[in-house]
Amino acid sequence: MKKEDNKKSIQDKLNTIKYNCDSKTHLKVEQKKCLKCREKTCTFICPANVYSTDEESGYTIVQYENCLECGACKIACPKDAIDWDYPDAGYGVIYKNS
Ligand code: SF4
Ligand code: SF4
Repeated sequence: MKKEDNKKSIQDKLNTIKYNCDSKTHLKVEQKKCLKCREKTCTFICPANVYSTDEESGYTIVQYENCLECGACKIACPKDAIDWDYPDAGYGVIYKNS
């Protein structure tokens, strides 16, 4: 990593990541569990801001296109509400050395 990269915001760094987005999601949440969830851990543990809560409906919004495939949300969700899988072959985040 270059020295000047440390001065960039997280959003700027995320904007440098390349993806080949699939048209279908690889992350599904059980909305019934989300509606009863007070912690909303997914909304702050994800480094790519994939999860947010719709203020009106209370449903969890999942912007799977930004997923870095780290797996943290699946581990951290207190209700085991995330059906997590890798994107199909050829889709998802593109890491330089993969
Ligand atoms: S932490 Fe789990 S249960 Fe809670 S809102 Fe997020 S996905 Fe739903
Ligand atoms: S796998 Fe990582 S980057 Fe993808 S949604 Fe979960 S926490 Fe966010």
